[in-house]
Amino acid sequence: MMIKVNISADIVGEPIIAESIIETGTILNISQAHFDSNHGEIIAEVEMSQFPKIRDALISRGAEVAILDNPIMRDEEECVECGACISVCPVKVFSFDREWNLQIDADKCIQCGTCLKMCPHNALILEV
Ligand code: SF4
Ligand code: SF4
Repeated sequence: MMIKVNISADIVGEPIIAESIIETGTILNISQAHFDSNHGEIIAEVEMSQFPKIRDALISRGAEVAILDNPIMRDEEECVECGACISVCPVKVFSFDREWNLQIDADKCIQCGTCLKMCPHNALILEV
């Protein structure tokens, strides 16, 4: 499962991710991370069975944790399989198969919304 962890300015300098991983023995597969002086955000994959303990460890240190469980959907009647969404997705959700049909691996979606702006037919839907 994919999760988003938000870290506010008052704790952004603290090693709460590392502490939570070590404390719980949880493996976080981090696909994106952005930190500056005002905010921290990571997108990560975690085993569902390990989620409750890493969530609790992060929250106890002041982070916010959200499950990314509404991945991108495609309106197949609107999609013209132009491929514009393929190059913009940071986690490679979209691809063409051998017959040039668009394939979607929605489990990878981190709900960033980038592809929505690129689709010329408004065929992509993201419910957040
Ligand atoms: S950009 Fe839109 S129309 Fe083009 S392949 Fe992707 S979903 Fe289909
Ligand atoms: S919302 Fe972001 S991660 Fe999801 S398919 Fe679109 S570009 Fe990729």
